[in-house]
Amino acid sequence: MSNVIQLLPDHVANQIAAGEVVQRPASVIKELLENSIDAKASRIQVVIKDAGKSLIQVIDDGVGMNLTDARMSFERHATSKIKIADDLFSLKTKGFRGEALASIAAIAHVELKTRTEDDEVGTCLKVEGSQVVSQDACVTPKGTGISVKNLFYNIPARRNFLKSDNVESRHIIDEFQRVALAHPDISFSLIHNGNELFQLPTTNFRQRITNILGGKTNEKLVPVEEDTEIVKISGFVGKPEFAKKSRGEQFFFVNNRFIKSPYLNHAVVASFEGLLKDKSYPSYFLYLEVDPKSIDINIHPTKTEIKFDDEHALYAILKSSIKHSLGQFNVAPMLDFERDSELDTPYEYKNKKADVPQVEVDRNFNPFQSENNYKAQYAGGGNYQKEKPAEWESLYSGLQSESEPEVDLKQIEFESEEVTGNLFGAKEEQAEKSTFQVQKKYIVSTLKSGILVIDQHRAHTRVLYEELLKNITVSSAVSQQLLFPLRLQFNRHEVEMLKEIKDSLEQTGFIFSEIKQDEVGITGIPTLISESEVEILLEQLVADFEKDVPDNGFSQTDLLAKSLAKSMAVRSGTLLNSAEQQHIVNRLFACKEPGLNPFNKTVFTTLSVDELDKKFA
Ligand code: ADP
Ligand code: MG
Repeated sequence: MSNVIQLLPDHVANQIAAGEVVQRPASVIKELLENSIDAKASRIQVVIKDAGKSLIQVIDDGVGMNLTDARMSFERHATSKIKIADDLFSLKTKGFRGEALASIAAIAHVELKTRTEDDEVGTCLKVEGSQVVSQDACVTPKGTGISVKNLFYNIPARRNFLKSDNVESRHIIDEFQRVALAHPDISFSLIHNGNELFQLPTTNFRQRITNILGGKTNEKLVPVEEDTEIVKISGFVGKPEFAKKSRGEQFFFVNNRFIKSPYLNHAVVASFEGLLKDKSYPSYFLYLEVDPKSIDINIHPTKTEIKFDDEHALYAILKSSIKHSLGQFNVAPMLDFERDSELDTPYEYKNKKADVPQVEVDRNFNPFQSENNYKAQYAGGGNYQKEKPAEWESLYSGLQSESEPEVDLKQIEFESEEVTGNLFGAKEEQAEKSTFQVQKKYIVSTLKSGILVIDQHRAHTRVLYEELLKNITVSSAVSQQLLFPLRLQFNRHEVEMLKEIKDSLEQTGFIFSEIKQDEVGITGIPTLISESEVEILLEQLVADFEKDVPDNGFSQTDLLAKSLAKSMAVRSGTLLNSAEQQHIVNRLFACKEPGLNPFNKTVFTTLSVDELDKKFA
């Protein structure tokens, strides 16, 4: 048998390597930006078209390359940054593998223009699929400009795998921001399809953060400084009251490189202990300087993970210095730093009286109440309504018609035939429809055949979800006009996302007067929500979108409806009067899928008389 093992041709090897280095247009941006920084650029311009799918151009004023280096730079393992293996342990540059340019040139049409200070004419090179197709002397300013066109043109599977322009440009903005945040001494700009998304002058860290995140970021920052033998920490944490619903504003930089570290993140979160509301994430921009010898950045090909020699010490130092800052800047005035933090009462509880546990009694509940009475009661308002009239009014419009439940029940497709069929089917069973609440969490109703227990939050989420979906896809919802338009601050990233879902949001009743770089003007909102909830609702929405990054129209609509429904639905722990309870029950069983909430969790359970009988056997 003849030999079967062969060496792969270079261009094939490069294509394979490219798979590791270049996942999407954003990876190209990252590599090119890093090269420009390594080349000591003081000004870097990024121009992209169609989210980088047709063009990515990075132009710098760095040291440039001479003709030989320009040719060499596209070879695999060609790097000017390390010469011997030992150099790996004292790295000051971002690149060192010598793989990026070779990989990019293997899967795109690349044009390089570069000139060093000493040369009078520069070099212009064209490389397509690893082949140099032309090489000319050219006039070009000092520095390097690289254009990457038609990414993945020769790997259709990869190209098809790319997400929508919106999603890809979001990734690009992420990478761009990470690099720009780490290097305020360099000026950056980013232009997408002719629109200037960022224009960042050279400045200090604080101003760079504000320039990128926009709006009133500056007021929200608390400085953190610490200098020890093993690490120098500088940077900022966001004041706890501005904590976000998403992790979008959390940045660690180690020796000016963005890194991800769940372990260090934990240290930061721990230092905020007791200061944050549930499910909110503190913003932070922390710059750590360590001896390059004490870290290993080589463990991940895209280099965002990192291994520290002394992680435990780092954790402790980070935690204590943030705690110190929060205390010093009066953000956490009650914390006593000498004491063991475990013994501290969480901040939020400090000034509150201890709550005496009490048995909850619904004083409005009257099992003999007639239908008419409860309408009167609704008009008068239950406990919940007193606090938040606006939200509930529209919910109750359905109650005007007594026949509504029957009409709705006809539409039930769920296996509920037998459950609901004899549930509320017959008119004479009105009395049995009375409901009550357990633990402000469950709504209990009697059935002909037993007992029905409904999770109020999940039920309401299901109801709102179907309603919202209908509004977005079939008919638009009505809006309530705001007397004074709302102006809400968002960072650019969030604004980009809101732009993307603006149309769908408008179908639910939002009216946007304008969406600027870091501010959103709202003149109308859905009738189901109150003005005070708008900000938190939109923040949650953006956070949900960040996690999921839906790609096509349908999953986008679906996620939107899910997120809004979840935020708008009554929470566990909310006292509902009987009209409110019955309203939820009636609407639930008019739903297409009453048994599950949109997140596939059980909405209700039943206990049949047979089962009850067994318990008494
Ligand atoms: P690495 O950055 O790991 O060295 P790259 O493939 O990214 O590998 O780049 C190869 C080499 O090309 C670099 O080591 C550098 O010498 C040169 N180079 C790349 N981009 C630039 C640039 N913008 N300015 C000057 N030199 C560059
Ligand atoms: Mg590089």
